[in-house]
Amino acid sequence: MASAAPTLSSMTSDNLWKNVLEELKITVSAATFRTFFSQTILVSFENNIITIGCPNAYLREQVELRYYSLIKDILDRQTKQKNSLVFILRSPAQVQTALGPLFEEEKPPEEKVKFDPNTNLNPRYTLKTFVVGNSNNFAHAAALGIIKDPGNAYNPFFIWGGVGVGKTHLLQGIGQEILQNFPSYKILYANAETFTNELVTALRNKTAGSFKKKYRSVDVLLVDDIQFIAGKEYSQEEFFHTFNTLYLAGRQIILTSDRRPEELAGLEERLVSRFRGGLTVDVQPPDYEMRVAIIKQKCQEKEINIGEEAIQLIAKTVESNARDLEGVLFQIIARASGEPVQTELVKNFLGVKNGRKQRRIAPKRIVAAVGRFFNLKRSELVGPSRTAEIALARQVAMYFLKKELEISLLEIAEILGRRDHTTVIHGVDKISRQFSTNANLRKDILAIRERIYS
Ligand code: ADP
Ligand code: MG
Repeated sequence: MASAAPTLSSMTSDNLWKNVLEELKITVSAATFRTFFSQTILVSFENNIITIGCPNAYLREQVELRYYSLIKDILDRQTKQKNSLVFILRSPAQVQTALGPLFEEEKPPEEKVKFDPNTNLNPRYTLKTFVVGNSNNFAHAAALGIIKDPGNAYNPFFIWGGVGVGKTHLLQGIGQEILQNFPSYKILYANAETFTNELVTALRNKTAGSFKKKYRSVDVLLVDDIQFIAGKEYSQEEFFHTFNTLYLAGRQIILTSDRRPEELAGLEERLVSRFRGGLTVDVQPPDYEMRVAIIKQKCQEKEINIGEEAIQLIAKTVESNARDLEGVLFQIIARASGEPVQTELVKNFLGVKNGRKQRRIAPKRIVAAVGRFFNLKRSELVGPSRTAEIALARQVAMYFLKKELEISLLEIAEILGRRDHTTVIHGVDKISRQFSTNANLRKDILAIRERIYS
């Protein structure tokens, strides 16, 4: 979490955004965070204008609309100055690299599947529904070895990778297959957080004995998100003994983590070396072919009718990971309200025009569209007049120039015939803020954007 307030100069913009995301993460619900913020990046930081990239038009609008002030408050505090925010489109690929392994695991979206209380296995995640491709074929091959010969093939088996790449799905799938192959085996799946919570409860209630028994008497122990115990002394200690007991008895242990064992800061060396004693594999985000296959798989499971073109469009646009892909797909499916998913709907949702990324708009076009909307001539917009009406139109033009073109404040000042770029800062700030509070202005802005792009 954001520690002692850093100064701007000591903070790269990447770090700044990480701090903001960390704060957002503890402020909003996990689902909100995942949907709205997990794919945002900080694009630029110029004077007091902070430009934030969102992966699609839908999210850009929602984030700006709902969370402008929340994000601004955090940013102002972090940077110790008053900022204006501008939200623009950025492809998820760029977002992904910016994020790195910062994010801890989150629970999959609300679902009504029954976990088996004895194993904590979720029938939704099987190896049959797990799409195999370039990014995970090594992990999958190892999994096939393990389900034939648990405890002997690779032990422990350590799977690491970023958020949403299918670690939990694979881990659970392995568990289910082992159970099928060896019905008498005791299998237990636990998130490392659950392990920790249960340990705390057991210590409080003086039931440590049954806690130990529960975890040390299984044939296969599947622990998800082991990074959670890093830095937690008690949990590490207990897990170390659990691990040793099982390992020495030849029981299979499979772990997942958001980073490799040696990168788990705060994890004791003796645990790191235990984790590295077996096979460590990574799972990467899916490539295009896999994304297509995953969309098809999910649609088949849900019996959703969707065309090839729509599938390709989604796969091209949502590049970050399988979970985001699934999230966007399900939002689109919800919008289709039971009808087959049409390409048009997908285009609208993703903010893609004519199947291509939005083309670059000429500044002239923006100034003209704003002028037409407010019934003003270009000469009036760029002229000296300061009547309220003209000033507002000018500020709207500044806002669009910054937002749609990402050009510098100086350039914007020049395009609009202003001598001083601080007027531009003020203009962008005013409109950005009002976008989230003033419904009428918002309507106007959206209408102008339509015109700019039509
Ligand atoms: P992680 O644990 O790595 O964060 P999950 O296993 O929770 O990721 O996967 C997120 C979602 O994406 C799940 O609903 C999962 O079913 C789906 N998913 C991920 N990878 C695949 C895959 N290779 N094939 C099918 N579905 C996948
Ligand atoms: Mg997971």
